[in-house]
Amino acid sequence: CGIVGYIGHREAYPIIIKGLKRLEYRGYDSAGVVLYDGKDLKLAKTKGKVSDLEARVSKEITTNGSIGMGHTRWATHGVPNDVNSHPHLSNSGNLVIVHNGIIENYEPLKKELIKRGYTFKSDTDTEVLVNLIEEVQKKEKLKLGKAVQVALNQVVGAYAIVVFDKNKPDELVAARLGSPLAIGIGEEEFFIASDASPFIEYTSNAIYLEDEEMAIIRLHKPMKVRKIKDDSLVDPYIQELQM
Ligand code: GLU
Repeated sequence: CGIVGYIGHREAYPIIIKGLKRLEYRGYDSAGVVLYDGKDLKLAKTKGKVSDLEARVSKEITTNGSIGMGHTRWATHGVPNDVNSHPHLSNSGNLVIVHNGIIENYEPLKKELIKRGYTFKSDTDTEVLVNLIEEVQKKEKLKLGKAVQVALNQVVGAYAIVVFDKNKPDELVAARLGSPLAIGIGEEEFFIASDASPFIEYTSNAIYLEDEEMAIIRLHKPMKVRKIKDDSLVDPYIQELQM
């Protein structure tokens, strides 16, 4: 399973597809991508290989956009099929998430969300998390990064996630506990991936998130890394990658 995210000035789609192929060695049963073109979210996902995803993309969506994320899934909750593939949208359609890992307490969280009127398309634990973030955002009127943090503090399990909010289209929020996540830092652009192989050709500066850390990645602003539990700011170590 794997994650690739991009925010910057290049076309995101080729970076994401090439990156997902480099992460294929990690194993997966489904693949998906979401792109933001400045107006709409465009989503394509499928059971099968990254090459199957490319075929579907060419039939279903336009690929312009300089923000996006891709995912390869290793199913833990819900069979491998198109609907259970990532990315997953929140009920409003504003939030979109990719996730590697397991949300162990997804059942009680899902029950609570259903009581509050949320509906679910997939059988995944991941769709519960994206709607939990949305509920926190709405109820507590929090910014995306804070909402992700509050939601993650209610979660038991393991994750590498990237979240995007259509209403905040200069920002990606990434977080990790248990599953790896690296952030490549370029000039006015950022890459996020399960390892550095998807972005090593674009930048040699990378941060490896530690467990229980999250990153608020914004264009034209300094990146912030925080501890998910106590909100303290982390001064991340920027590694020089060997090209
Ligand atoms: N638990 C999530 C799912 O089953 C993510 C699986 C993964 O790590 O790819 O959809």
